[in-house]
Amino acid sequence: MKRIYLDHAATTPVDREVLLEMLPYFTRFYGNASSLHTDGSLAHEALEKARERVSEIINAQPSEIIFTSGGTESDNMAIKGIAYKNRDKIKGKGPHIITSSIEHPAVFETCKSLEKEGFKIKYLPVDKYGIVKLDALEESISKDTFLISIMTANNEIGTIQPIEKIGKIARDYDIIFHTDAVQAVGKLPLDVKKTNVDMLSISSHKIYGPKGVGALYIKKGIILQPLLNGGGHERKLRSGTENIPGIVGLGKACELAQKRMEKDTKYLKNLRDKLIKGVLDNIEESYLNGHPEKRLVNNAHFRFAAIEGESLIMSLDERGIAASTGSACSSKKLQPSYVLLAIGLTPVEAHGSLRLTLGRKNTKNEIEYVIETLPKVVNRLREMSPLWKK
Ligand code: PLP
Repeated sequence: MKRIYLDHAATTPVDREVLLEMLPYFTRFYGNASSLHTDGSLAHEALEKARERVSEIINAQPSEIIFTSGGTESDNMAIKGIAYKNRDKIKGKGPHIITSSIEHPAVFETCKSLEKEGFKIKYLPVDKYGIVKLDALEESISKDTFLISIMTANNEIGTIQPIEKIGKIARDYDIIFHTDAVQAVGKLPLDVKKTNVDMLSISSHKIYGPKGVGALYIKKGIILQPLLNGGGHERKLRSGTENIPGIVGLGKACELAQKRMEKDTKYLKNLRDKLIKGVLDNIEESYLNGHPEKRLVNNAHFRFAAIEGESLIMSLDERGIAASTGSACSSKKLQPSYVLLAIGLTPVEAHGSLRLTLGRKNTKNEIEYVIETLPKVVNRLREMSPLWKK
């Protein structure tokens, strides 16, 4: 059976061009980028070329990019790094860090762990579409607030935040602004200067690059406390011999993402809108989660009355369709998604959710197959559901 992969928010396949560029760095140019000999210099050159490519996709300077092991490390480095530098401010009364109630666990759990260490965290509410309430943001700011961390776009429901406005508020109050842009890179034009972003997290495997590599943009002048101590490879901030093949892959993935963004956006938006319409028109009591327009071009997130999301995923999988209930991290837990609860769904409603995230290789035929298959699967599950009274 042909498989239809609709879980690109969880991860993407490595692009062939990316792979080809990475391969020589495993066996031919395997030098350590810190070594002084020619082999080391070749690795170092590749590292710096990748840094340039990553910086371009967000309009930063190459010297403002630090390579990490992925989005999770970038988020931890940004938030804990700045928090530990501000430890002395802990005695104040106000919330010290402001974040949202729908962040990815890489931010959410990092904030929770800082809370245990005595930092105060404000988790901002969002509206029914998942957009952060800007008035609540301004009201939450106190003289002790040193960091605002709000994601560019949500990994579950795809909602895009008003980053430029948040950046302006952060600048007006002289607060550092970090954004987790893991889901947004390559799908939205990003400009750290225009949006006043001070730190931004990137992950390679969401943009057709390899897993286990990412980057953190840190604006010149911002000082973080390193989380890893050692040889100080990355600007003394991140120790550990650089993963050159992975970094080369991330650099190439950024270059391709930037080059293809306009074409990809047009293509994916078309397919996504067809999918959303097809599902909502053909399945009664089906709803779209997230904002109708301010959403990632590849994200379609639904909920169906009287349906158990996990059973839906398994039934779709049997028919060759790879889908998700929400984030990959929470898909094996049976608790309702905190993102869906934050947008006002009840736990029962939240359980009936389905996330379909499209990619470059998906075709119109595949989407038509999903539109044809999904109503049959939902109807069959509803026939067995005690919650379905029709
Ligand atoms: N932030 C967001 C919004 C994500 O979607 C993810 C991955 O799902 C991460 C962070 C973590 O990235 P990584 O898997 O590279 O650690």
